[in-house]
Amino acid sequence: MGVKDYDYEWMLDRVYSKVPVRLGSGERFVPPKPQVVHIPGKTIIRNFNEISDKLRRDPRIVMRYLLKELAAPGNIDESGALIIHAKFSSSAINTLLSRFIKTYVICPNCGRPDTILRKKGKVWVLICEACGAEQPVKPI
Ligand SMILES: [Zn+2]
Repeated sequence: MGVKDYDYEWMLDRVYSKVPVRLGSGERFVPPKPQVVHIPGKTIIRNFNEISDKLRRDPRIVMRYLLKELAAPGNIDESGALIIHAKFSSSAINTLLSRFIKTYVICPNCGRPDTILRKKGKVWVLICEACGAEQPVKPI
């Protein structure tokens, strides 16, 4: 491939990346809102399984991220709720979940949430099904 071809491809990439990407279904991605309830000494995210489903992430991965960031123990109960064994505000949970979505769900190239998270050896890669971009991410 000559330099010229390369430049052309690069230019095409640039052009396409500026074109607004439409969702296949025609709807905008709305990040799921966590339903946070508190009981003494515990914080519960009731719709945790639903959130993980919507993000297409393994609930255990999402749990591991949240618990690591919160530095608190926790578990997923039989109803699919996440029980965190410490007290955190709803806004703290919201902020963390948004950060998770931004880092581990949304494609940095096209901004779409149609991604999968894959481990390649020790490296974790966010692969976008919409635009094909691959982005290494910090392992959880
Ligand atoms: Zn993408």
